Amino acid sequence: MPELPEVEVVRAGLQRHVAGRTVAEVEVLHPRAVRRHVPGPVDFATRLSGRRFDAACRRGKYLWIELDGAAEAIVSHLGMSGQMLVQPVGTPDEKHLRVRVRFADDGPELRFVDQRTFGGLALTDVVAGLPVPIAHIGRDPLDPEFDLALGVAALRARRTEVKRALLDQTVVSGIGNIYADEALWRTKLHWSRAANGLSRPKAVELLEAATEVMREALVAGGTSFDALYVNVNGQSGYFDRSLAAYGQQDRPCGRCGTAIIREAFMNRSSFSCPKCQRAPR
Ligand SMILES: [Zn+2]
Repeated sequence: MPELPEVEVVRAGLQRHVAGRTVAEVEVLHPRAVRRHVPGPVDFATRLSGRRFDAACRRGKYLWIELDGAAEAIVSHLGMSGQMLVQPVGTPDEKHLRVRVRFADDGPELRFVDQRTFGGLALTDVVAGLPVPIAHIGRDPLDPEFDLALGVAALRARRTEVKRALLDQTVVSGIGNIYADEALWRTKLHWSRAANGLSRPKAVELLEAATEVMREALVAGGTSFDALYVNVNGQSGYFDRSLAAYGQQDRPCGRCGTAIIREAFMNRSSFSCPKCQRAPR
């Protein structure tokens, strides 16, 4: 799944390439890509035509495009393999093209491409600035209005493993498996430590580490981003080279040289240094 930095790269690309443009026509090539839009593909296409795309927005890992008037938005779920592409009209269709948006200015079109069709688009109402499906998502640490003290309190209130609490998008949003492992490594915390057993300073350190690692990834992603090609692929990832723990099994810890280990966690994996990040007794 793409994480916050990857989604932010896509958001910035959408803002640059499609914000302010009016939709001429929407073509749904695979109904599964709009299955979250309950009234169906025809309704989706009909209701979008003639509308103007306003701002491209993000909260945590969630992405949406506000429509003119800002009472409705297109929410985009990138899933495992979803991509938003901006392509000149006439560019051959991608093999897994699912939705095409043509604009009234005849400029480059927006394409939603998704090999595994776990992702999709939906038109939803916006209430108090947030699309309804995202209303429960907490602010992310890169949000200028993120309240660190509140995030720390929410984290320390959870009677669960610290990594599980980090991944809970209602506590603090935007942190996924990759950046959770990186933040825990930086803070020398084992993933199975109790969230409610963390001291306040340690919890502050952890959230600050998560913020820092995502900000660094964003800088790396921003520089590798081709201005004409809005693209995200959760499987390849832009930021592999700068990771200290995630996916680094059997490689030496950058701090102490001990081999990084992988443990099963919530049907996925947790990567950590067994020496720097002592498991609780
Ligand atoms: Zn180590």
